[in-house]
Amino acid sequence: MIHNFNAGPSILPKEVFEQAAEAVINYNQTGLSILEMGHRTPAFTAIMEEARHLVKELMQLDSDHQVLFLHGGASTQFMQVPMNLLDPKDTAAYADTGVWSSKAIKEAKLFGKVDVVCSSKEKNYSYIPKDFAVPNDAKYFHITTNNTIYGSQWHQIPATSNVMVADMSSDIFSRQLDFNSFGLIYAGAQKNMGPAGVNLVVVNEQILGKTKHPIPTMMDYRNHIAEGSMLNTPPVFAVYVCLLTLRWLQSIGGIDAIEKRNKEKAALLYQEIDRNELFETRIAKEDRSLMNICFTMKDPELEKSFYQYVTDNGIVGIKGHRLSGGFRASLYNAMPISSVEFLVSLMQSFNK
Ligand SMILES: *Cc1c(COP(=O)(O)O)cnc(C)c1O
Repeated sequence: MIHNFNAGPSILPKEVFEQAAEAVINYNQTGLSILEMGHRTPAFTAIMEEARHLVKELMQLDSDHQVLFLHGGASTQFMQVPMNLLDPKDTAAYADTGVWSSKAIKEAKLFGKVDVVCSSKEKNYSYIPKDFAVPNDAKYFHITTNNTIYGSQWHQIPATSNVMVADMSSDIFSRQLDFNSFGLIYAGAQKNMGPAGVNLVVVNEQILGKTKHPIPTMMDYRNHIAEGSMLNTPPVFAVYVCLLTLRWLQSIGGIDAIEKRNKEKAALLYQEIDRNELFETRIAKEDRSLMNICFTMKDPELEKSFYQYVTDNGIVGIKGHRLSGGFRASLYNAMPISSVEFLVSLMQSFNK
């Protein structure tokens, strides 16, 4: 049996794979594959509408917040966000808490002034900064809610008067937050809500249309909103698989239910890392990610044989990112607690 701890693209519910496979052959008894259906057909517009609606329902969004499924992955949002919200003379505030944050900062600098109000870089991104101030006149404040590579997470969303923008690629739909308090949320689907090739954007319409420079048609969120997220051909199959995953999430009790499971899974693994004298984690205890659990071995010489041992036992995708080293176990929504229990049992038996 395979236990998939990949960081992304990553595990999805088995029933989602089965339904997606069926739709590739014959979508909903139409005699057509989902891959060959027109995106303006009633069959596909129903998929798009239900997916957008389910996001609204699961996140309990108000009527100002619009849901879009866009191309280009989360990395395209690094430029699309400042393009829509920032004029060259404006300042945007950013928190630098990892690789993805720093990439977002790099792109924003192409469009305006960037004030990096806090950074944990000097300590190898091992914590979430606590003491910092965001200037009132910053057009928005950008955070990366979960740092996929280093394994830290904002457990407390900073309270500022600024428009909050969040990259939630690796913890979207994993825990309850006041989603309406964000001006803009984006997430590449391939970590926790679907396949690669689409990203989710949730945007408060009230924050748009305030910049003076021209915005290319495909980059302007307002055009996507006006066309119901069908400005051009959407990534139809990726959106469909997101819909299947959202239906699954709703069927098991929504975000409240999955958050409870996710906390149990993470607690199980951190307990073992703290208890087992072979392992340790560099991440500050209060900032540990519930999604991407990064750990190393106190004796680095043992890492190779531990990796071999777990791999021989069906564990997949547990190697740490090349920048952080060691191991990373990604415990996304679809990961069953039994796989975490199995990994913990291997950590124990390896120690023996
Ligand atoms: C994976 C990831 C990205 C990049 O996503 P792409 O879809 O590959 O562009 C950005 N931000 C975070 C937090 C991520 O985990």
